[in-house]
Amino acid sequence: MVKKSKLSEIPKVTYRPPVVVVLGHIDHGKTTLLDYIRRSKITAKEAGGITQKIGAYQVEVTIGKKEEKRKITFIDTPGHEAFAKMRGRGAQVADIAVLVVAADDGVMPQTKESIAHAKAAKIPIVVAINKIDLENANLKRVKGQLVKEGLIPEDQGGDTPAVPISAKTGEGVPELLEMIGLVADLQEVKNEPQAVLEAVVIESSLSPQQGPVATIIVKRGTLRVGEEIHAEDVGGKVKALIDDQGRRVKEVVPGMPAEVLGFSKVPPVGALVTSGEKTPPTVKLEAEKPTVEQPGIQATNLNVVLRADNQGSLEAIASAIAGIRVEDKGVNILLSGVGQIVDSDIYLARTGSGVVLGFNVGISPSAKTLAEDFGVGVRTFTIIYELLEAVEKLLHGAEALKKAEIKGEGEVIKTFVLLSGDVVLGVRVSAGKIGYRDRVKVLRGEEEVHQGRVRGLKRGPKEILEATEGQEVGVLIKPQIEFKVKDRIAVC
Ligand code: GDP
Repeated sequence: MVKKSKLSEIPKVTYRPPVVVVLGHIDHGKTTLLDYIRRSKITAKEAGGITQKIGAYQVEVTIGKKEEKRKITFIDTPGHEAFAKMRGRGAQVADIAVLVVAADDGVMPQTKESIAHAKAAKIPIVVAINKIDLENANLKRVKGQLVKEGLIPEDQGGDTPAVPISAKTGEGVPELLEMIGLVADLQEVKNEPQAVLEAVVIESSLSPQQGPVATIIVKRGTLRVGEEIHAEDVGGKVKALIDDQGRRVKEVVPGMPAEVLGFSKVPPVGALVTSGEKTPPTVKLEAEKPTVEQPGIQATNLNVVLRADNQGSLEAIASAIAGIRVEDKGVNILLSGVGQIVDSDIYLARTGSGVVLGFNVGISPSAKTLAEDFGVGVRTFTIIYELLEAVEKLLHGAEALKKAEIKGEGEVIKTFVLLSGDVVLGVRVSAGKIGYRDRVKVLRGEEEVHQGRVRGLKRGPKEILEATEGQEVGVLIKPQIEFKVKDRIAVC
């Protein structure tokens, strides 16, 4: 319950401040823009000047002829790789994406990747055409390129706002902020300070002085000092909350970022933070809607992240797989890009329940581990024909996968916390076998609440490679969630 005295402190706005992420190609001016906004809007008001940065900040802008005031929250870590990580665990992090495109350079590969990530997150894009102070700035060319990417600027009959700016001189930045405010109003994100807490970890680290530190943004509800909190399997009690201007605050309302001290371990980026001793709600991954929908047919499309070694083969493969249909199912390309398979591809595929396909490219070691832990399918090819054949098989297999027999199953009968903070499950194997490194689903009742990989398997004190029916074993599953006694583990 919120005390009466606190109610008066809650801002009387219908909508909470939108959370904005800045995306775009390297060197197009993302950091300069975020710094300019922070400097022009915040630093001037500070008494002491320097404040320690947290991972996000809030500014107030004036909108429209009525000069209404709106707050906007900017995530201070730009780029789609960081954004993908924040989204990778399923939480809805941002409400709006600002896509920075340099007016001299135009749409580049990471611009396209950024568009794919914003689209996958289903958030509106506001384009900031940056560096208009440069002599070779070419607005017309950039707008033409945006149209090719499906972002049709408003002045060309579309609905994508595109604001010319210079992050260096500040020209156009007030108009950009006003545009973000207007787009946010259309979003109608409700301000619900009294709802059950939902916050997202956008940065986390271990500070030698302060212990685990997490920057969070509250999406719903109010976070208060003294409260019990959970971020997936990491618990804690809020010791201190520090706002974006370095001040200690007692509570954090929707849309507001803050640094949280008091977690028992470093919580993962992208984790959903909940309060109280209750079970945290299961993070629902944002399921992708199939883009190809035919009247009367329920299409279950295959979501694909595609990587190739050059633009030519990428385009050829993308158009070839777009044409493949198996019964009423087709392929929905979440992202196609040149270069090796990286972490952000795995996160994107995971939130879209898709696969990652590579042509003549490798996979970074960290992306490989991530794919194993999340159970995201990754396949690489050197022959186009084989890639196309695999897509067809995957389309056929979507159904087969659902009907697949359970290879091994067990029930959680106990949980143990290790010194590292990891939770080991005491599991009784009820059918088949559970093996070391097996990919497993965690089922709670009828619901699948998690997927991970067996990273440790022990019988008594002894490490084993396989547990068979009837055995009671210790199982370490990564990534971790808040596991419960009676959860069922099923090998996928
Ligand atoms: P990021 O990689 O997208 O974060 O790009 P940065 O913000 O680091 O900017 C890359 C370079 O472009 C830096 O040298 C900036 O000073 C410069 N830059 C950024 N914005 C502008 C601008 O509006 N005009 C000009 N002339 N240079 C800019």
